[in-house]
Order: sequence, then C-alpha cells, then structure tokens
Amino acid sequence: MIIKPKVRGFICTNAHPAGCAANVQEQVDYVKSQKAAGTGPKNVLVIGASTGYGLASRIVAAFGHGANTLGVFFEKPPTERRTASAGYYNSAAFEHLASAEGLYCKSINGDAFSDEIKQQTIETIKNDLGKIDLVVYSLASPRRTDPKTGTTYNSVLKPIGQGYTAKNLNTDTLKIGDVTVEPANEEEIAATVKVMGGEDWEWWMQALAEADVLAPECQTTAYTYLGDKLTWPIYGHATIGKAKEDLDRAAAAISQQLGGNGNQARVSVLKALVTQASSAIPVMPLYISILYKEMKAEGTHEGCIEQIWRLYEEGLYSSEPRLDNNNRLRMDDLELKPELQAKVEAIWPEVTEENLFDLTDYKSYNAEFLKLFGFGLDSVDYEADVSPIVEASFKPA
Ligand code: NAD
Repeated sequence: MIIKPKVRGFICTNAHPAGCAANVQEQVDYVKSQKAAGTGPKNVLVIGASTGYGLASRIVAAFGHGANTLGVFFEKPPTERRTASAGYYNSAAFEHLASAEGLYCKSINGDAFSDEIKQQTIETIKNDLGKIDLVVYSLASPRRTDPKTGTTYNSVLKPIGQGYTAKNLNTDTLKIGDVTVEPANEEEIAATVKVMGGEDWEWWMQALAEADVLAPECQTTAYTYLGDKLTWPIYGHATIGKAKEDLDRAAAAISQQLGGNGNQARVSVLKALVTQASSAIPVMPLYISILYKEMKAEGTHEGCIEQIWRLYEEGLYSSEPRLDNNNRLRMDDLELKPELQAKVEAIWPEVTEENLFDLTDYKSYNAEFLKLFGFGLDSVDYEADVSPIVEASFKPA
C-alpha cells in the first residue's frame, strides 16, 4: 500500500513503517555520535518505551551505554489493511537495530496499569536479566483502569478553580482563535491524578521490590513538565499539573520504600516538545512553535533524544546532578531561562494567522508532528508500495 498521513485533529491515525524505522535510526545515530562521560545503566526497564521521551530513554540506555533494555508499551499491531501505530513500528525498528549489535532487548505490549503486565515484566526480568538498575516511567495515557477495583478513570485537561480563555492554534485549520476551558470539578481532578499521578509508578516499584528484581543502587525516574506563565493555566496549575505534583509525593514514598543503599526515585523535569501526548494539549502547539523558533535562534534547541542524552549525562549518571530544591532533576533549564520566556511572552500576543510562519516555527512543529508517525523523512520514498506488516518479537496487545 502507498501510505500517506491521515491526520484528524491533533492525531495522525496511521504510520509509515519505513519512516518510523528511519526516525529511530536518526536517534540511534545521534546517540552513537556522542560520548558518555561516565558509566551508565546495565539493565533497564522503560515503561512507555515506544514513542517520545520513553523511546529516547531506551535508545540512550542501549546505544549510549550498551544496556540491556526491557520496554513496556501499548501499541496497535498492523493488519493487511491498516498500518500499525507508530510506537509499534518504532519498537520493531529499535529491536532490529539493537539485536544487530548484540544488545539484549525484549518488549511487552500491553496495559502497563494492569497487574498482569507487571507480573509478565517481572517474570521476564527474573528469567533474562536477574535484576535491573534503572526504571524509567514515561507513560502518557488518557485513561487508566485500576486493577484492584476494575474502575476506569479518564483524565481531563482543564484548569482548576476558574475557567480559562486563551489563544489557541487549531493545527487542522491553521486558524487562531480563543479556546475556553471550563474548570474541572473535584471528581475530574481526582480522576486525572489517578491516571497521570504517581500511584501506578509506586505500584510498579513495589511489585519490582517485592519480587526482588531491583539491583543495589537502583534508580527510578518519572517525567514531568512544569513550564512557565503561558502554559501554567492549562498545564502547571491545572488538572495535569496537579497529577504531576503527585509524582513528587510518590518519588519520596518510593525512595523511602527502597530504603537507602544508593537506591533512589527522582522526578525529572523535561522541556516541552512535540509528541503524541503534548499535541493534544490546547495552547501547547502555539507555545512550542514560538519556543522552537527562539531556541533555534539561540542555538539551544533540543529534541527528545538530545534532552534525554543530557538527562543521563547531567542528571541520572552525573556525580553532580542538576537538582532543584525538591530533589527533581531539571532538564528544562534552557526552556525556562527568564530572557527566553520573556521573548516568547512578547511574541505570543502578536501572532496572527497571517504572520504564523514568520513569528513562529510552526513549519518545524508540523514537520516534527508528522515525523512522529514516520512521515516527511528525506530518506524514505513515500510513493513506494510498502507492506504495513512488520514482524516484531512482541505480541499484539
Ligand atoms: P508519548 O505519547 O510519546 O508516549 C507515551 C508512551 O506511553 C508510549 O510508549 C505509549 O505506548 C505508552 N502508553 C500509554 N498508555 C499505556 C498503557 N496503558 N500501557 C502501556 N503503555 C502505555 O508521550 P511523551 O510526551 O513522551 O510523554 C512521556 C512522559 O513525559 C509523560 O509523563 C509526559 O507527561 C512527560 N513529559 C512530556 C513532555 C512533552 O512536551 N512531550 C514534557 C515534559 C514531560
């Protein structure tokens, strides 16, 4: 089949197998061009390993440090008539490249919130790796079923306390208008914390500790975003921010539960980037488009792979980690520089449909969005007839 992007709103409903493979290859090439300053992890579990920051975390562990990696994700396999999801193709490509270099890699495709997938992961660690020394928690999901009660919770992207009206770019129509979001009620806030807060991270770490598969000096990290004034009303000070605050509570609880020995749980604060998760958040596409333009002009722009490379180097495996007062690893330092934020804030009210391509780097935003699904890569022939079927070692979810 000839595969062209099918974009609906802020999602692309198909993916290109060769394009996703090329995207993974690019990230692997970047990591191979770097040199780690010190030692890194040996046996790594990445929960949410197939796209965005989790995929980058897996690539840095494997190709930057020669680590064995076990990845957990929830992705759709292909059929003769439908392409797989991008994360499926990414993971198949990752496994192909890692195996070719003799690196251990296994993947588990299923619901990470469930007890069953946790148990399957533990069995795989016991059988293949013995113990793990890094657990990266990089899930982004709109819903979670609590395995203890069977109740399904849906997260919402809403402000807390009062409604919010903000400038928004509709990435489908390229129209700029106001978006008004009503405040969340208590139930919605609690549900969002249940989905995107720290409870599942804690349950993973408890299950791994009880099964005695954590090595001494094991580290774990979960990813968050803090942002600044422009995004606070819809992110930092909103339902998702509340859920992310709960990660700080969970990090302290996990660290205590792991009981010293160099074991520690820390939240890592990362910069805003185009991923499947962030493109769904109102305000973010316009904010990121302005940010990209300004950070590129300054020469400080980073994509997922560059951010995560730096997280390992300046955070997780640094003798002087870049920590804040809340024991969080801060990799959003370049994004949050006050001079840069002031520039973005000054541009924000000036952007119109007419000057969108001049005042912002929407062109790159859009190109990066399509790239997430394997489209727009120079090395790929998009007119070629390709099979959507790509064999992978992991089972359909
Ligand atoms: P993403 O959508 O690219 O990745 C999400 C991952 O979670 C995928 O691997 C997906 O398969 C997996 N997943 C979702 N539901 C699952 C389930 N039920 N079971 C198993 N796997 C499941 O998202 P991302 O932007 O890379 O986000 C990862 C983390 O980084 C999130 O916690 C997010 O809040 C955080 N973060 C993102 C940004 C940003 O700008 N994108 C910035 C800072 C922090």
